[in-house]
Amino acid sequence: MSGGAVTTDVLIVGGGPAGALLGYLLARRGLDVLVAEKQLTLEREFRGETIAAPSVVTLRKLGFGPALDQHGFLRTEGVTMRMEGRRVMHVDYRRFPIGTVPIDIPQPALIGIFTAAGQAYPGFDYQFGITFTKLVQQDGAVRGAWLRRRDGSTFEVRARIVVGADGRFSKVRHAAGLTADVQEMARDFLSFRLPRPPEWGLQAELVIDRDRHLVVLPTFPDSLRIGNNLPKRGLGALRKAGFDAFRADVMALDPRLAPVVREHLRSWDDTSFLEIFTAEVPQWSRDGLILIGDASHTCTPILGQGVNVAIQDAVCLAPVLAASLRADRHPVVTAAELTDFVTERRRHKAFVTRFQRIQESALATGSASGVLLRRARYRLLDALPVKYRLFDKVLNAPHSIDPVDLADDARTGPGVTTAERSTTTD
Ligand SMILES: Cc1cc2nc3c(=O)[nH]c(=O)nc-3n(C[C@H](O)[C@H](O)[C@H](O)COP(=O)(O)OP(=O)(O)OC[C@H]3O[C@@H](n4cnc5c(N)ncnc54)[C@H](O)[C@@H]3O)c2cc1C
Repeated sequence: MSGGAVTTDVLIVGGGPAGALLGYLLARRGLDVLVAEKQLTLEREFRGETIAAPSVVTLRKLGFGPALDQHGFLRTEGVTMRMEGRRVMHVDYRRFPIGTVPIDIPQPALIGIFTAAGQAYPGFDYQFGITFTKLVQQDGAVRGAWLRRRDGSTFEVRARIVVGADGRFSKVRHAAGLTADVQEMARDFLSFRLPRPPEWGLQAELVIDRDRHLVVLPTFPDSLRIGNNLPKRGLGALRKAGFDAFRADVMALDPRLAPVVREHLRSWDDTSFLEIFTAEVPQWSRDGLILIGDASHTCTPILGQGVNVAIQDAVCLAPVLAASLRADRHPVVTAAELTDFVTERRRHKAFVTRFQRIQESALATGSASGVLLRRARYRLLDALPVKYRLFDKVLNAPHSIDPVDLADDARTGPGVTTAERSTTTD
């Protein structure tokens, strides 16, 4: 140990959905965890708010149901696809056997629920305003990291595992020498939020006209989150054409939105830009280090899977780290001990990416014949008796969480204190 260094079992860099949930799950297993979050508050720029149904099930099994209910959320009941003014497909999420639907809750609220639950455990330490700067490495293994406070002062943290949960532009990944294969999608996104018209249902809608589209998501409590595609690196040209032209385009794509667009979409300041890419990271771990969430694999926004995979990563990793740290076989958690976790999670993410790529290429179609073919394909899919089975497989893909591990977490769920926990766990 170096003199003056803070020591902990686990250092998690990044307090987004993946890092905050993992920190909580490890603390309730009795471990000491420091979650270092560079922002000063949970308020963040426009982020993922849809939680896919499998993660809703997981969060309820973990005991977060009452906290979610208390905050409130919005149930997304289905998705409708419109192409060139015609409704071509509809999927009613309520018909899936999983028994729940995706929910919409602001990301700060979700993270706040995790951190509030963490306060019940002495080992949980979530600190704002702390930025990762570099790794501490020794004999080829990661042994900790240097962190910087807002006042510029730095400090060293020694940990038996460093978790890079610092998102799509992960600095931890870079510092560990783990490369990302970044694949740009054909489009970027400009997002904005509008009040939800009273007649608008609780359906997500994909409104497509040739190679232009709007993704319209009912959002808690009473708005619509809307993403409008633009060609890759097309923001400059869009801005040059002027804000009025952009607004007119949006209204032409979906005239039902015209009244709220006219009244509430007033300037570029009401919009935020999202670069769309996927990132494949061939190697997620080293001795003493693991990447999770967007840091290990960045999804596109199709079907709101980013938070889903982040939650599943955290829930799958917690028992693996706890077992390794309890067994105390090595000074750090080794990459070998993380192999099964990585293999399993990679399988889930590859499945999500495969589906997203197919959708992305369908959305990029602009030629007259391509548009006709696309419409015919989705119409056919809509009429197929196996439609619900196919979508169930894609949207509610079985994940790799061992029910025994979930049961272990559920026995020690939110509101169960350390003292109680010691009488309820092995
Ligand atoms: C505009 C937008 C809309 C989206 N919509 C959806 C959606 O509807 N549904 C969905 O499932 N997904 C959506 N996503 C994706 C989703 O937000 C991410 O997949 C998800 O947040 C990933 O969680 P994470 O914890 O891995 O990373 P993040 O949420 O990116 O969290 C990483 C955290 O690390 C912190 N951090 C970064 N660098 C450092 C550092 N050096 N030191 C310390 N802390 C650091 C960041 O401040 C951040 O809090 C959207 C993303 C964007 C950008």
